Amino acid sequence: MLLNIMLVLILLIGIFIGFAGYSWAEDRNGPALTVPSKEELFKMLEQMPVSEDPSTLYEEPVGAMCYDTAAPLDRVQYICPECGEMTLYDSMFGSKIENLQTYRALVKKIKKIKVKLDESQFCDKCNPDVSYPQFCLIVKLDKNKEAQKTCGITETDINLIYDYSEGKIPLSDIMYLFEER
Ligand SMILES: [Zn+2]
Repeated sequence: MLLNIMLVLILLIGIFIGFAGYSWAEDRNGPALTVPSKEELFKMLEQMPVSEDPSTLYEEPVGAMCYDTAAPLDRVQYICPECGEMTLYDSMFGSKIENLQTYRALVKKIKKIKVKLDESQFCDKCNPDVSYPQFCLIVKLDKNKEAQKTCGITETDINLIYDYSEGKIPLSDIMYLFEER
């Protein structure tokens, strides 16, 4: 920014000297050119458009997010059902958050085995250290077995668990969900 102003100033001083020299030379032979006064130069300087490099013009104020009551257009709100905290995501995660309703509805459909959608990675308060949040499922395949947690699940994964719970597909078809991925 300062550099831009300095460049403009140097340019204007150059013009000034150029004009002065030209009019001085002209004085002897013909009518003098109007030399802009210092005040006029400053006026010109004020009217000059400033460089629109966005990196120098716009800086997001620190802490602004704390005071936002509504999410700006390119932000998506996530409200944690566990603690009620609101986390704002930029559009990169927007589609993921929009999937949330679908995920919740799909998990609700599963009645014959215990399945819980764990979306806590999306909450800044519950999981402050997660930078790339994923949806997880906590599944209790059998009442004699311990509940297992699997993360990074997709709609297809949830549908397969549903199919298994309804006896449409064998357990082996969903075991990939509980292996290291
Ligand atoms: Zn939370």
